[in-house]
Amino acid sequence: MVPSLQVQLLAPSGCGRAVARMHPSSPLLSGLPPCAATTLCAPDIPRQVLPQIPVKRGGPQGAGVLGVHLEGPFISQQKRGAHPEAHLRSFAADAFCDVLATYGPLDNVSVLTLAPELEHSQEVIRALTARGIRVSLGHSVADLRTAEAAVQSGATFITHLFNAMLPFHHRDPGIVGLLTSDQVPPGRRIFYGMIADGIHTNPAALRIAHRAHPQGLVLVTDAVPALGLGNGRHTLGQQVVEVEGLSAYVAGTRTLCGSIAPMDVCVRNFLQATGCSVESALEAASLHPAQLLGLEKQKGTLDFGADADFVVLDDTLHVQATYISGELVWQAEAARE
Ligand SMILES: [Zn+2]
Repeated sequence: MVPSLQVQLLAPSGCGRAVARMHPSSPLLSGLPPCAATTLCAPDIPRQVLPQIPVKRGGPQGAGVLGVHLEGPFISQQKRGAHPEAHLRSFAADAFCDVLATYGPLDNVSVLTLAPELEHSQEVIRALTARGIRVSLGHSVADLRTAEAAVQSGATFITHLFNAMLPFHHRDPGIVGLLTSDQVPPGRRIFYGMIADGIHTNPAALRIAHRAHPQGLVLVTDAVPALGLGNGRHTLGQQVVEVEGLSAYVAGTRTLCGSIAPMDVCVRNFLQATGCSVESALEAASLHPAQLLGLEKQKGTLDFGADADFVVLDDTLHVQATYISGELVWQAEAARE
């Protein structure tokens, strides 16, 4: 089944406190296993927020955290999505020092998204990779050649494929072309996040990606704190977001700002869209993200010696119970009777 809960931390911006807490009752199936995505706001915020989100084990009080996924500020102006333009940055000449000055210590970080077309990005990718931090490409206008160079420098992940990047073009497929590139170093696998919330990615696009490169597909929720709060106005860091049905927009615009679909919804959407096996759909939410993070011996598997983090699902893939380290931490009403 599935290994662990997911924490999606989007935009701690401005809040000065971590929002990376997901109660285990959240019917999540694990995306990046307890990993988090952070959208930035004011420049001094990451240095304040990151120390508040230590890597930790999960338990009855909430999901574990395997590390933070940082998105921004080193991303493209043109493909910034919901990221406030005023906070976007390019790298200074002493690029990795600039990264450290921006974020502070990176001890709690497991994934960092950047736009590889930014000058000095290659040296940053090499430095991050050497520290064991996964580099992800996204919010970018990179062409395929630039994306391939980034992969050769160590990048292994693509942030929410198709969203916030150049659309596929047959003469230059851009970052999307990495799914079938012949320039990926032997023995390396490119992983890519897909938001299968039914809003961010058309089912046909899901099928294209899945059929081109099924082993790299990682289901992500891209969830914002408004997940589970219903229609109306909510906050995303310093921004106000408007939730309408299944979509979350920057208030007053039609700019999507993350999703409000929990992981089990994404798994069911993905299964329906691709017609893949149940096992494949579950692996996209469990095994693949664990492999991306190099944790496949502990997470994303029920093999001997692995952490006993798993979710019990019924035949329709609705969550019945959640276990962390072999301990029952949540159970659906119906399952209790
Ligand atoms: Zn993003």
